[in-house]
Amino acid sequence: MSPTTDRGTVEQLLRAVPDFPEPGIRFWDLTPVLADAAGLAATTRLLSEPVTSTGVDVVVGIEARGFLLGAAVAQALGLGIVPVRKHGKLPAVAASRSYDLEYGSATLELPAGVLAPGTRALLVDDVLATGGTAAAASELVESCGARVVALSVVLELPALSGRARVGDRPVHAVLER
Ligand code: AMP
Repeated sequence: MSPTTDRGTVEQLLRAVPDFPEPGIRFWDLTPVLADAAGLAATTRLLSEPVTSTGVDVVVGIEARGFLLGAAVAQALGLGIVPVRKHGKLPAVAASRSYDLEYGSATLELPAGVLAPGTRALLVDDVLATGGTAAAASELVESCGARVVALSVVLELPALSGRARVGDRPVHAVLER
């Protein structure tokens, strides 16, 4: 399929849920995209676009939808996947990063012993909103001496300026809303 056709497939299946998880938030729900065989295949191809299988060593998936998407991308590229998890889920932690959310804060953690210095990583998540999550995940990867080749997301919300927080790391967004 061409990237244009693939984008159309994803766009058709993507669902906007008003007022979730709180009033005033429009939640972009990928569930119907993932549930559809053509939707999952198209999303996987599009997320893999910024890299070739020789230009990246591992996929890093950000909890939780980044696990589903990242595993599909890793399989397509013939690579493994490393999960970046919320605090308290991993039995052995290499590094932690806390960051501010709109209300409160969150902590992400990287598993110990899976990212060697020099490893080239493709980060995968569903949505780039304010960019705090992506920036924290990138810093975790880099704290091990690994490198973020690109951050690949299905949807970017440009009004929230997430790219600014991600810095000069390349961002690839399949769609913008
Ligand atoms: P961010 O503000 O970029 O740190 O986004 C935090 C996380 O929340 C991302 O990993 C997304 O999965 C999720 N997220 C933020 N805003 C939305 C939204 N409007 N719809 C769906 N997911 C969102």
